[in-house]
Amino acid sequence: MSSDNFGICSACVFQSLVHTTRGSTFSLCERSREDSRYPRYPRVPVSACSGYSEGRRSDGTEQPAERAVPEDDPLAGER
Ligand code: SF4
Repeated sequence: MSSDNFGICSACVFQSLVHTTRGSTFSLCERSREDSRYPRYPRVPVSACSGYSEGRRSDGTEQPAERAVPEDDPLAGER
């Protein structure tokens, strides 16, 4: 899925982009790690979210963090 289709997550500091070996990209919500109200992979596009926060990431970048699917990821091997 194109990052254009992730809605407001694409401008949120808590979004990470996860790339699979099959060429798909998923929007991971980092807030889900500490707050169960937020799904790990929200249904996109997200049009409203109480956790949305615009601004710089802790590493100083404004772009989403990008990484490959970790081995313990529940989506690993399913897509
Ligand atoms: S906090 Fe909300 S807007 Fe931000 S990445 Fe998570 S689901 Fe998307």
